[in-house]
This record gives sequence, structure tokens and C-alpha cells, in this order.
Amino acid sequence: MIDVTINNITVSVPEGTTILEAAEKAQVHIPTLCHLNMPNVRYVNKCSSCRICMVEVEGRANLVPACATEVTQAMVVKTSTPRAMSARKIVLELLLSDHPADCLCCPKNTRCELQSLAYELGVREIAYKGEQSIYPPDVTSCSFIRDLNKCIMCRRCETVCNNVQTVGVYSAVDRGFDAVVNSAFGRPIIESPCTFCGQCVSVCPTAALTEVNHTRKVLEALNDPDKYVVVQTAPAIRVALGEEFGLDAGTIVTGKMVAALKQMGFDKVLDTDFAADLTVMEEAAEFIDRVKNGGRLPILTSCCPAWVKFFEHQFPDLLDIPSTCKSPHEMMGAIIKTYVAEKIGIPAEKIYVVSVMPCLAKKYEAARPELVNDEMDNVDAVITTRELAEMIRESGINFLELQDEEFDHPIGQSSGASVIFGTTGGVIEATLRTACEWLTGKPLNKIEFHELRGLSGIREAELEIAGMEFRIGIANGLGNTRTLLEKIRNGEVHYDAIEIMACPGGCINGGGQPAHHNNWGILEKRSRALYAEDQRKPLRKSHENPSIIQLYKEYLGEPNSEKAHALLHTYYQKRELV
Ligand code: SF4
Ligand code: SF4
Ligand code: SF4
Repeated sequence: MIDVTINNITVSVPEGTTILEAAEKAQVHIPTLCHLNMPNVRYVNKCSSCRICMVEVEGRANLVPACATEVTQAMVVKTSTPRAMSARKIVLELLLSDHPADCLCCPKNTRCELQSLAYELGVREIAYKGEQSIYPPDVTSCSFIRDLNKCIMCRRCETVCNNVQTVGVYSAVDRGFDAVVNSAFGRPIIESPCTFCGQCVSVCPTAALTEVNHTRKVLEALNDPDKYVVVQTAPAIRVALGEEFGLDAGTIVTGKMVAALKQMGFDKVLDTDFAADLTVMEEAAEFIDRVKNGGRLPILTSCCPAWVKFFEHQFPDLLDIPSTCKSPHEMMGAIIKTYVAEKIGIPAEKIYVVSVMPCLAKKYEAARPELVNDEMDNVDAVITTRELAEMIRESGINFLELQDEEFDHPIGQSSGASVIFGTTGGVIEATLRTACEWLTGKPLNKIEFHELRGLSGIREAELEIAGMEFRIGIANGLGNTRTLLEKIRNGEVHYDAIEIMACPGGCINGGGQPAHHNNWGILEKRSRALYAEDQRKPLRKSHENPSIIQLYKEYLGEPNSEKAHALLHTYYQKRELV
């Protein structure tokens, strides 16, 4: 251990600790812009490009960046000397000299780290005025917009995309005034192998990367008398939306969320959890079919569209192993525009389906041409948790004072199995609850599969079901996914079923969720809340959901029937790796 004194506070830290990390232990705040620590995924943005965290070290002539300087025995650090504070402010003022000063109408207004820092460091005027770089925004994707005019070269996006997700879309190009973080050859994002996971958007401190905002589109639909607007909300929304209104992470706000959506004028408020139960029915049936009839294993879950795009680009030789199930919100859209439309007597053409998702990839997914039925998109608009919060605020709704309300019917019921879809390991646990009972013909002794839980990047478990041994794998984060799939491709490991989520931690950490600034404790709270919600539900297995049983009885026949396939399954295609 090394003793270091920071602002007269002495702490002991292990060798290799940076001044920034030691300061955290000493509870001394050192401002940063580019620093990015991702606790569960081993990667830290170490480029120290912003130079905001400059501090003085006794005995050294120059200021040093706290994020990139390791402590030494008896080091004495001062973080707020006039020299350090002045250097920090000048660095920030130089950054602002090449940054549009349009905070009032910026999509990141009040949530921008650059703006907060300017306030914190007392910047009250643009000190350096001169030429500014001008780039046309990249609006080619359905998921997010790149506005390089607002890029401060922190390179967090590069670290996340290249090291954590291993997709490799970004790198820093050019020098000096022209330096920028860009895609290969400056091509539009739509021409890259981007998966639209949105992890780069989550970590971008400014509005250089922001979601494609669908709130106007949804408001127009709500005010169109010819449209019957149905909204569905994904499992992970209910444990994160409250954070936008000052509640602690993991506060379950399902009832208030439903009440808000009803006040906003949606004609029906439905729960994507129902379709998560439906996914379990289809996926468990597909798994059992492969097990019994010598089909190719492992089966891979397919409810994450970023993961789907990842394997289409990166593992085209494995296209036949993922399940063919659509993701739950797409299944829900297909059922709303057929079964529900018939039940409520509204023509499908009039129905406008809005999905509230934790995810930016779902915006891209909704536009995939494969996901249509009768030439109609299954889902018409996707808004994120953040966009829903924005709509609630704009509508003048006092969210915290709302009285809880229930989801509408039909297809209003859901099981505890469905709600855990929102966290890594939840989809496979939910599927196994049903697959086990179908394989053994007996009720489960123990509903919970604790061996499949947790937030670590790759997990595995061995289970004995009906006298057969099954090896289950779980990967979250695309870098971990690549590691696992390469081992499978090389024949180094065998699994029977694998759950994959593109976002580290799963949808609780989706690109559309409230910012958590890499505080992993927030993700743990969201995950725990989903498991708590599962425990509270009277029904905990998808195949016991009466609304699901009724849907198969009245409409689909049985899981994997021809009708179920037409509505609930899809296909994949090889995509170029440009
Ligand atoms: S796009 Fe955002 S995250 Fe990437 S370098 Fe620019 S400011 Fe940083
Ligand atoms: S959305 Fe995901 S894959 Fe695409 S550039 Fe960002 S981090 Fe990379
Ligand atoms: S893990 Fe969830 S939030 Fe992230 S891309 Fe996949 S479906 Fe979207």
C-alpha cells in the first residue's frame, strides 16, 4: 500500500492507483471530462485528452493529469491551488472556443457534462473567440444523431465502442484544429457495422451523440383523430424512469408510469412483459424442438436487436443458431395489430403502436423491413425512458403525485418471469422455468435459478433437467459476446443455450436509460428491483399466464405453429463488415 496526501487528507491505496482514484478514496472531488471508468468491464478511458483534471504534485515543476498519474509513496497532491484551478479553467475555455454556444436549444441542455463543468468552474464568458469547426450532422441512422460540432474529443465513445463492445466504429482522425473522432473514412454511421446499441451515446458527455427523438412523432399521433394509439412499456423502464424525477435508482414506478401514459391520452396502455411471456413460449418450444430432434445447439436468444445486428455483421457463419423469435416489443406490435385489433374492433391500419424502450437499437429494429406483417410495421415509433420522461414533463404532469393505475386489457397480464427480461440472465432464467416444466412434465421445485444471476460479463451454469445435462451460457456486452462466440466457433466450448445482451448488464443499462455516469451501484439497484418485482408477482412462469393461454387457444394454436411463426418469428441476413 502507498500513502498519499491529497489536500491534507492522507489515504492508503494499492500500488498502481492513480491520483484521481486516490482522490475518490479521500473524498476529494477532481473534475474530469474524458475520464470513464467502467467497473464491471475492465476498461478505463485512459487517453487523458481533456486535461481538466490537472493537479499540483509537491516537488514537480509541471502540473500533472490526475487520471493518468500513478501515486508514489508519500506523494503530496494539491488539487485546488490557484495554478491548477486556472489551468483547468483555461483548458475549458479553449474547449468552449470551438463549441457552439446554443445550450438553450441543445438536446443535452441541463444534462450536459460540459455545461455543468462550465458552471462549476465559474466560466461566465466565452474567453477565446475565433474560427469554429463545422461538420454536417450525421442523421443517417434511425437510432442516434452524430453532431461532431459538439464533440470535445474526450474519446469515451471510442473506448466503449472499440474496447468494450469490440465493434470498432470510431477512431480519432486528423490533427490539431481538424482533429475529430469519426467513423472509418468519415462514412455515415449507417454504412458502418454499428449495432446501434447506444453505449457510445450513454457515455458521451455532450450532445455530440444523442438519440433520434421520436417524441414529436408520438405527439402528432396522439392528436390525430384517425389514429388509435397503443403504447407498450418494456420491463426495464419501470425501475429506471423514477430516476428522471429524483427517485432513487430501482424505485418501481409501474403504476405512476401507467397513470402518466393514460393522462397523456394513449388509447391503450399495455405491458411488453406480456410479450416477454410470449417470447418464452416460442423460444422454449424452439429449444425443446432442437434438443429432441437433433437441431443445432446452442440456441442463442434473439431479443436484443443490437446483438442481432452484431452477429449479422461479425458472425455470419453462425446465422442458423440464434432463435428466430422476434424481440418482445415486435411480437407485441404484431399481436396488437392482429389479435387485439380484432378483439377491440379497430382496423389494424388505424392502430399506431408506440414502444417505450430502454434501448436505442429498438429504434433501428422497428425500421427493419423484415419486421412487418401484411405490409405494416409491427411498431410505428420507439421512445426511450429519457424521451418518456421528457414527454411527461412537457405535458405538465406531476409524476410524483400520480396515483398508481393498472395496465389495460386484453393481454394485460404478465408473469414474474417476464419482468426479469430487463436484466442480464433474466431471459434465459425465464425460458428455463418453462422449458424445464415442459421437459419434465412436473412443476419446478425451485423457481429461481440463482446460478444464472449477477452482472459479471460472462457466466455459465450446468443444469440437470429430465435426466439430461444442459450447459447454459450468458454474455452481456458485445466484447464478452465476441469472446464466447469465438470459443464456440473454434470448438473450444460447448453450450446448449446462451443468452446474449449487447449492453453491459442488459437492458437496465440500455442506451436510452437515464444517465448513471458509470455508477454500477445504480445498475445493481435496477437489477435487484426487477428480481423483487418477479418475487411479488402471483404468477411467475410464462406458460401459466392466463392471457397467454387464452391467446394460444383463441388465435395462435400452439407455440411454433404456422401462425405463430408468421407473426412472431423473423430471419437474419449476412451484413457487410465495412
Ligand atoms: S462524440 Fe462524444 S464521446 Fe465521442 S469523443 Fe466526441 S464528445 Fe467524446
Ligand atoms: S451504438 Fe454501439 S456499436 Fe454503434 S458506434 Fe455506438 S457503441 Fe459502437
Ligand atoms: S441489451 Fe437491451 S437495451 Fe441494450 S441493445 Fe440489447 S435490447 Fe437494447
